[in-house]
Amino acid sequence: MKITVVGTGYVGLVTGTCFAETGNNVTCVDIDAGKVAKLAAGQITIYEPGLEKLFERNLKEGRLQFTTQLKEGVSDADVIFLALPTPPGEDGSADLSYILKVADQLGYILEDYKVIVDKSTVPVGTADKVREAIARNAKVEFDVVSNPEFLREGVAVEDFMKPDRVVIGTSSEKARKVMGELYAPYVRQGNPVIFMDEKSAELTKYAANSFLATKISFMNEIAILCERLGADVDMVRRGIGSDDRIGKRFLFPGIGYGGSCFPKDVQALVKSSQDADYDFRILNAVMDVNEQQKVFLLPKIEAYFDNDLKGKHFALWGLAFKPNTDDIREAPALYIIDRLLAAGASVSAFDPEAMSNVKQLIGDRIRYVDHQYEALENADALIIATEWSVFRTPDFDKIRTHLKDQVIFDGRNLFDVPRMQELGFHYESVGRQAVT
Ligand code: NAD
Repeated sequence: MKITVVGTGYVGLVTGTCFAETGNNVTCVDIDAGKVAKLAAGQITIYEPGLEKLFERNLKEGRLQFTTQLKEGVSDADVIFLALPTPPGEDGSADLSYILKVADQLGYILEDYKVIVDKSTVPVGTADKVREAIARNAKVEFDVVSNPEFLREGVAVEDFMKPDRVVIGTSSEKARKVMGELYAPYVRQGNPVIFMDEKSAELTKYAANSFLATKISFMNEIAILCERLGADVDMVRRGIGSDDRIGKRFLFPGIGYGGSCFPKDVQALVKSSQDADYDFRILNAVMDVNEQQKVFLLPKIEAYFDNDLKGKHFALWGLAFKPNTDDIREAPALYIIDRLLAAGASVSAFDPEAMSNVKQLIGDRIRYVDHQYEALENADALIIATEWSVFRTPDFDKIRTHLKDQVIFDGRNLFDVPRMQELGFHYESVGRQAVT
């Protein structure tokens, strides 16, 4: 099939590349001319495990093209995917201006039947709005489909190539057939393609992300309780996770969820609920808990240093909002940095992939180092904000020699508590006994 993907960010580039991988002809359109030039020249613009190899192969074999010109990009497409940003507006609702602008342009451009697919995360009713925006000027037949994306950054290629499920919202038989054919190679193992109406598909994405965020905030509150009552959240997690109804995944406490999806999607669903005259109480609590959780380590750090962080120097391991990505949107590390700097402390940070993005955002307010152990030099304590594998089994002797004081605040529960006790560190984590 001939496919166009409008918006070549995390979702668009993965979507385009993975559709090309099964033999489709894909054109990716983006208004960012710099990004398009880089991609067309074979330079990948995001870090995503496994993507580069697929990207290079499909580019070389001519199945992947890049352009800034929407008209040229969509002219011979069968299916047009919209993978455009839907950032939070001022009132928390999803900002649809990127999508509706492109929809409006498509109305002028379309010359024959196309299936236009919302891949962005959009509130209920958006497919209707997109349809209306295109129809204002379109002279040809078209269908609008809602096909939310469930890929996770860090394992996006795997998620796209072998999705747990594909959700397709459409009331058109013709579009249903096209979409079914397009996704068939990705669900050969029998994972379901679930067809439904557009509104249900739109809500499915928000419900999924909000449920996962709820699981995280729930476990973070259990962790707080564990600390107060002397229980161990790791034990509680294993105890409840072995119940099939609960499941083992997504039960790890930490310093809150971040990224470009959970915070904005939970907020957008709360706003959609308000607009529907419903107060979604659970989700309000989920957001509240997460706000606190991002700076959960701060009171512990302050208490350790007698509420005086002025002149203290911290090593920070991890900047990305989660491992295996360079994405720093809403990353808890950024909130920790802000609080430390505001208290008069300084920070040396290391992240395997996200340092250049942070540098672009906050410049030289912190020091960036090339190696995780270099961050420890002259530091009064080590703070861990992202669970990169490379931090999981560090050389503790090296930590001991480099750190000024043997103190670790671990926001991701990477180390075993008894082991830290044995090694003689002052070690505080989330929902587990502190080693002092
Ligand atoms: P992104 O910001 O990484 O990429 C969006 C791209 O769209 C950018 O490259 C931007 O230049 C481009 N763009 C903006 N206006 C344009 C226009 N008029 N024409 C062409 N290109 C234009 O965003 P993302 O993370 O890929 O997210 C896209 C959507 O997918 C969002 O709705 C998001 O909620 C959803 N989503 C994201 C993820 C994720 O993990 N990132 C997962 C599932 C769903």
